[in-house]
Amino acid sequence: MDVGNQYGYLCPNCEKGTDLLVTANAEVLLTSAGTDIDSSTSPVWNSKSFVDCLSCGWAGTVGDLRQASIKKEPASERAAEDSGKKKTPLDWRNHAG
Ligand SMILES: [Zn+2]
Repeated sequence: MDVGNQYGYLCPNCEKGTDLLVTANAEVLLTSAGTDIDSSTSPVWNSKSFVDCLSCGWAGTVGDLRQASIKKEPASERAAEDSGKKKTPLDWRNHAG
């Protein structure tokens, strides 16, 4: 189920997952022009990080977000196929030793 982010989070107010702005900690390099974000590291955030929904203006924490229910794929039909296979009957005529 694609809700707009790979974490499956939805705004609890407008139920959109495409406009969630999480306040995360990132490593930055101080430069003469200001700061450069270190793209080799991932920003750190958790359930207590602040979130703004840019769509409706809701503000809260990641822990307050709704988790989209992830539908499970239908069970594989492989089991049914296996049980439907014809079992090869033993050929007793070739058993003469
Ligand atoms: Zn919202």
